[in-house]
Amino acid sequence: MAGTGVHTELAKRRRAVLPDWVATYYDEPIEIERGEGRHVWDAEGNRYLDFFGGILTTMTEHALPAVTAAVSEQAGRILHSSTLYLNRPMIELGERVAELSGIEDPRVFFTSSGTEANDTALLLATGYRGSNQVLALRNSYHGRSFSALAITGNRAWSPTSLSPVQTAYVHGSRRRGTKLAELSDEAFIDACAEDLEDVLGQLHGNVACLIAEPIQGVGGFAVPPDGLFARFKEILDRYGILWISDEVQTGWGRTGEHFWGWQAHGGSGSPDLMTFAKGLGNGMSIGGVVASAEIMNSIEVSSLSTFGGSPVTTAGALANLDHLLAHDLQGNALRVGSVLRGELEKARERLPIVADVRGKGLMLGVELARPDTGAPDPAAATRVLEETRRGGLLIGKGGLDNNVLRIAPPLSLTEQEARDGGAVLVDALARAQE
Ligand code: PMP
Repeated sequence: MAGTGVHTELAKRRRAVLPDWVATYYDEPIEIERGEGRHVWDAEGNRYLDFFGGILTTMTEHALPAVTAAVSEQAGRILHSSTLYLNRPMIELGERVAELSGIEDPRVFFTSSGTEANDTALLLATGYRGSNQVLALRNSYHGRSFSALAITGNRAWSPTSLSPVQTAYVHGSRRRGTKLAELSDEAFIDACAEDLEDVLGQLHGNVACLIAEPIQGVGGFAVPPDGLFARFKEILDRYGILWISDEVQTGWGRTGEHFWGWQAHGGSGSPDLMTFAKGLGNGMSIGGVVASAEIMNSIEVSSLSTFGGSPVTTAGALANLDHLLAHDLQGNALRVGSVLRGELEKARERLPIVADVRGKGLMLGVELARPDTGAPDPAAATRVLEETRRGGLLIGKGGLDNNVLRIAPPLSLTEQEARDGGAVLVDALARAQE
């Protein structure tokens, strides 16, 4: 079936009707027609092992029967009633998320996307603190609304500098390519804490919040040392500044060792607000914010999201979350993630193009640089993507210089699939190096 022209024809129609700024992967983009488990099939009949899950969104597995059943049962009863009426699956999911959140006296607000979740978190934090000053991390990505773009520290994803908030960027995650790259973890944390204090000393009056991804997603799986956010929290607490953890990519056990990304940092207590999206719905559009009742209920007028927490998405999300917990997919992410990481670390020794292998659980980044100069090598990342596609493996890429391969399969990945996909990836890296 390969090369039947189905993709070429559809790509032509896409170019004629969709915006140029919504990019596709590959010289010849593919249409993913169906999926099962950790595999997907394209419209020309090719099968792929999926190591990207539609950007970390297929969390458990493709076509999980329990999710399909929950969605179709709910769709057969009622698709929508609105927040004006009691919505049983939304309330049940809210109870589950609240219980899992680690936040005291939690309240949950559901949205349709990660962007809206972060937008809501900013609305809450700025209103609660009476300030439009926000801290974000360099190299961050938090979504594409007018407010989420204003806290995005990555030129490739920042189409405007107009902003409803005043953002100051601090160090915290991206190390390679900066002067902080040489520092030990401990010294890096010290340097970031000093930077944060320095920035706070330069800002006018009170600051509302600091928003951060525990591991930066779009930013190329840049991982801060464990403990960084606990240190930040000590400083923020002194000023009463709220900490928002954006768990859109790191939540639900993806990092293996913890259920939430922030938990790797120890210290005293949870973030003040937490946002989530992507994986919870296994592909259905869901996002949300968790905050203490005091912060959540600080909005004194009416506010709602028509589609946030719709019965169909929340019924599917509940089934998805039940499956994740019943099968300990967090534990699987830890075990199988370390197998995959081991394969990549081993290959790194004979592949000088690989400048870094990093990440946690089933969220692994492979940074590519030119062996002669150490300069970021985005062209090599593009070559690896083409080679892995030919080898029947889907992966992603990202990073400030677009030179980081992003590997984030469904959390049910088996050890055999990790080895099979790892072999295709290592082979593609070797070809890209030639
Ligand atoms: N936060 C993070 C960390 C993300 O990775 C993304 C999406 N890539 C978002 C927020 C925005 O989510 P959405 O695309 O669902 O609006």
